[in-house]
Amino acid sequence: MPGKIDIEQLCADKGLRITEQRRVIARVLSDAEDHPDVELLHQRAAAIDPGISIATVYRTVRLFEDAGILERHDFGDGRARYEAAPETHHDHLINVETGEVIEFVDRDLEELQRRIAEKLGFRLVDHRLELYGVSAQRPK
Ligand SMILES: [Zn+2]
Repeated sequence: MPGKIDIEQLCADKGLRITEQRRVIARVLSDAEDHPDVELLHQRAAAIDPGISIATVYRTVRLFEDAGILERHDFGDGRARYEAAPETHHDHLINVETGEVIEFVDRDLEELQRRIAEKLGFRLVDHRLELYGVSAQRPK
């Protein structure tokens, strides 16, 4: 997990108007280490400010996403999950039994992808990779 990203500061940098409710949602997102979906974000935000509706959370994450502050993921369960746009790239491994999301970086893999793009006549600017697995350490 890259160091904690200050979403409130990013909003200020991008000139986004920051209301009190958006500030709460920004803090919840900054504190999240688990790629939460909107429902979970709403639970956490409403625990701080019960006046925050799920519609406000939807609008706010959309706004942050459009501003490039948040990244949206779909880890195969049809729910959009969010994380602060990481400063350094990482990929994800999803435990399909528990939904747990593990972040990793593999330099050989990064290099391989760059070479594949190059072979196809491209300079790689971005990629997304999701691995789906089950724990190999099963109880006997
Ligand atoms: Zn991540």
